[in-house]
Amino acid sequence: MIFSFVLLFIFQSCQQINSSDVEKNSSDVKSENPPITLIIHGGAGSIKRGYLSPEQEKAYQIKMKEAMQAGYKVLKDGGKSIDAVIETIKIMEDSPLFNSGRGAVLTHTGDVSMDASIMQGVDLNAGAVSGVKQIKNPITAARLVMDSSVHVMLSGAGADEFAKMNGLETEDNSYFITPRRLKSLKRALGKDSIMLGSKDKSHLIDDNKFGTVGCVALDQYGNISAGTSTGGMTNKKYGRIGDSPIIGAGTYADNATCGVSCTGHGEYFIRLSIARNMADLMAYKGLSLSLAAHEVIQDQLTTLGGTGGLIALDNKGNYTWEFNTPGMFRGVIVEGKKAVVEFYEKD
Ligand code: ASP
Repeated sequence: MIFSFVLLFIFQSCQQINSSDVEKNSSDVKSENPPITLIIHGGAGSIKRGYLSPEQEKAYQIKMKEAMQAGYKVLKDGGKSIDAVIETIKIMEDSPLFNSGRGAVLTHTGDVSMDASIMQGVDLNAGAVSGVKQIKNPITAARLVMDSSVHVMLSGAGADEFAKMNGLETEDNSYFITPRRLKSLKRALGKDSIMLGSKDKSHLIDDNKFGTVGCVALDQYGNISAGTSTGGMTNKKYGRIGDSPIIGAGTYADNATCGVSCTGHGEYFIRLSIARNMADLMAYKGLSLSLAAHEVIQDQLTTLGGTGGLIALDNKGNYTWEFNTPGMFRGVIVEGKKAVVEFYEKD
């Protein structure tokens, strides 16, 4: 009996130590009426101060705020979290700043091949597309799979065809290709040398960050939805698919625990089922949102040698972000508070 008390005391002390460690990234809401909340990421990686010019920083800030405001408006007007996630991600997919939709990274053969997924926590319904090459907004195709098919994931030409048949906007693959990503592929293929001492360090962002986009939202009905969209990794070969379209790896949402969207080296996120794993830590181990995020990223992912991060929120309106890279493009809007956008480790 005494032994059990001692164990309980040690367990609680550990939780307290960890809580204060991770508090810096998180909100801690205890209200009965959780505030509507929307959180986004635009990729994690070697995003260090000085890599982006002030103009580039401004461009990311403006676009991320625009995307968040669009989703937040849906929530504020009484809309559902699933619609807020779609509105937000569409804006990021349309912007060449991010590795999704137009401006996605290139495959080894020089085309764009995109993955996206979405999930709603109210009923665990989910949809995904992988390896699509024509759908203007892959996140809308993921939703279409969820709403209008009996499947969870469609891939390749079949997924493109399904989207087209159902009236989604499509584009020629060349629409998605930007000069910036062409340069990045050339560097990856070793065909382009980088001038040493060059003042423009923005290629370091392109080459070292992953750049996927993601969004998690909590609406006034207490429902959580999460979505992720990506071009994957530069120079990917043989139809490689990462974690982003895999429910439980790159995306997960359950009203009972949390909504999560991940970004990083997909192979590691798949092996660790990071998104579902985080929800399970909350469900089965009773961890708080921030402790669960800390455990999957700083302990499990780091131990396995993977890099990346995640954004997450729960049904009480707590939110968190966690990453083991020097930076992650991220932002949050909480009802009644100013929108926040951060890039670097210590912003
Ligand atoms: N996780 C994505 C992938 O591996 C890449 C990213 O997050 O940027 O495909």
